[in-house]
Amino acid sequence: NQRFVLASRPVGAPTAENFRLDEVAIPALGNKDVLIENHHLSIDPYMRGRMSDAKSYAEPVAIDGLMVGATVGKVLESNHADYQAGDWVLAYKGWETHSVVDGDTLLKLNPDLAPVSYALGILGMPGFTAYMGLLDIGQPKEGDTLVVAAATGPVGATVAQIGKLKGCRVVAIAGGEDKCQYAREHLSVDACIDHKADNFAEQLAEACPQGIDVYFENVGGKVFDAVMPLLNTGARIPVCGLVSQYNSTALPEGPDRLSQLMGTILVKRLTVKGFIIFDDYAHRYPEFAQDMAKWVGEGQIHYREHAVDGFEKAPQALIDVLEGRNFGKMVVNIK
Ligand code: NDP
Repeated sequence: NQRFVLASRPVGAPTAENFRLDEVAIPALGNKDVLIENHHLSIDPYMRGRMSDAKSYAEPVAIDGLMVGATVGKVLESNHADYQAGDWVLAYKGWETHSVVDGDTLLKLNPDLAPVSYALGILGMPGFTAYMGLLDIGQPKEGDTLVVAAATGPVGATVAQIGKLKGCRVVAIAGGEDKCQYAREHLSVDACIDHKADNFAEQLAEACPQGIDVYFENVGGKVFDAVMPLLNTGARIPVCGLVSQYNSTALPEGPDRLSQLMGTILVKRLTVKGFIIFDDYAHRYPEFAQDMAKWVGEGQIHYREHAVDGFEKAPQALIDVLEGRNFGKMVVNIK
């Protein structure tokens, strides 16, 4: 069994030296345990947080501990009544080629419904995050202007498309013209702005002539700075992630804008609410699974993967996601 462990904690952007590839024996199976041959490993921005020991909503990965992550794989052996060899499953264990886990913690996948790797993206955690954050906190209404960044990633692309299904004017933000063109053509957004453009804030203002009613916060930083003056009275901001800040080692330079932000929240009577998907919404998973399977099955929601072949490429895949070098949901194909 090959596995990546955390060799050291990154300062700023992670580097290859923060990870170590270890070879260990596969442990014997206990009662109810299942042995899985992992085929796909999910790479997600939250993994940067787990590499740090700063206090957060989840425990950090220990030094020399297995990197956390979700995998999709095939059952090789099972001591659990619900699973048999050949079943496809979703496991939450980590960056390893084989996993031994208690069968009670697994989700069985139907390979006839959709490609099994979709369970790591549109039909899994990122899709669920987009669905609950937008519908429960964002409360999109027909005619609202919805803005979302990281708009070609699994969360942002799903937010944009659910927004269109709910009748919003959707303004996407993405890094680069290729991503923007994709958002316009395949995600049906009304406009897409490249956040790397010099006059990004002006372009965003032009694309939102009626102001912003829902801002789905994925990135923070200069994108939020451009959004803040455009927010309408009563706007909703689901605070999902701040990926532009995950590699930061210090507060941004410039004036402290906290009082301006609090003043905007007060005067515009904004709803700003953070959420951690499984902590807050696990009980609503069935509702998501049903709606999303239908939307994807009917072709109403489009999904793009960025697949990288080779388990040894996992560290670089995470480094790339944090720098915006992924184009779609990052998945490492192990087999
Ligand atoms: P993505 O696959 O979209 O990857 C992150 C993207 O962020 C990059 O591709 C890049 O896109 C963008 N980005 C990176 N740096 C910057 C920057 N400096 N400025 C602007 N954009 C930047 O990730 P996900 O869809 O998996 O996740 C999106 C967000 O949702 C993240 O913040 C993540 O932490 C959060 N999340 C939160 C959850 C929760 O429970 N609250 C659960 C799951 C995800 P581009 O090139 O287009 O800029």
